[in-house]
Amino acid sequence: MKTNLDILVVDDDKVARKIVEKHLKKAGFRTAGANDGQHALDLFDDQFFPIVLTDWMMPEIDGPKLCRLIREKRTKGYVYIVLITAKNSKTDIVSGLKSGADDYLTKPIHPAELIARVHSGIRVLKLEDSLMKAQESIRQLSITDPLTGCYNRSHLNERLPAELMNAQQLSHPLSIIMADIDYFKKVNDTYGHQAGDDILKQFAGCIFREIRKKIDWVVRYGGEEFLITLPQTTASGAFHMAERLRCAVESTTMPAGEHHIQITASFGGSCAFFNDEKKPVAMANMIAAADKKLYQSKEMGRNQVHIDGFAC
Ligand code: GH3
Ligand code: MG
Ligand code: MG
Repeated sequence: MKTNLDILVVDDDKVARKIVEKHLKKAGFRTAGANDGQHALDLFDDQFFPIVLTDWMMPEIDGPKLCRLIREKRTKGYVYIVLITAKNSKTDIVSGLKSGADDYLTKPIHPAELIARVHSGIRVLKLEDSLMKAQESIRQLSITDPLTGCYNRSHLNERLPAELMNAQQLSHPLSIIMADIDYFKKVNDTYGHQAGDDILKQFAGCIFREIRKKIDWVVRYGGEEFLITLPQTTASGAFHMAERLRCAVESTTMPAGEHHIQITASFGGSCAFFNDEKKPVAMANMIAAADKKLYQSKEMGRNQVHIDGFAC
């Protein structure tokens, strides 16, 4: 986090506000000023301020009320709030902190203390930022298959029903494709488990290259079985996508240790097409239909695509 972050200074006394802003600017911070609580909230609607220094005594919305209202807002990050007050009884300070302020400064403002308090706020914000990043990476790990980087089953169980509901509400089609590597056991038996792992990663890489970024998503459904969700895609669209993927896999020679391995894969798909009836479609039924088609592809000789509701 840069030190020239925006600090919002709120005070109905213009002179007092300008003095605080002057000290902050001198220390290298960018500032914005608000002349009352409502003005501060209005500025927040347009811009995020990670640090707010607010006077306590203001008409209408006073400092503690402003703290509460900022805490109720959906801000893009934590807001570190310092109350500036002439009140310095313990009861006042406790009630100010209870309203959601992180710290307080007593008037008259001592410039070095002001800057020191802002720096301690920045330390808190940095900690909060790294905590958020750590939480996000834990969340990512909890929904990702470590070998291939695809999503895992628990993500599928959460996301696919939501995608189906969304498709239903918007009357959009949604397709899924099950992809299963052919005779993968033979790869393990012939070249070893490590080579098998290398092939799984490269197979997932082929899928990532073929799907639409940020629209389609892939789950490692089982050992060498993957499920691709294609929002806003008809059965015909799913067929063409799976066929492209089938050709890409078939024509790719995959390095694994000192070996170069060629594989094929079989595909089965199903499509939920929501018309005006808007009948709900269960995820389990879609997966069962795609699985049946995958079985058909295997039965008919492997290295082929069959999609429910689409005759090729
Ligand atoms: P089919 O064409 O009918 O799909 O035959 P297959 O051999 O691909 O299918 P089968 O289900 O008989 O074997 C799948 C194999 O995948 C067996 C299992 O050891 C292997 N496998 C599953 N997960 C992993 C993994 O993470 N790494 C490796 N190397 N192999 C795995
Ligand atoms: Mg297989
Ligand atoms: Mg299998």
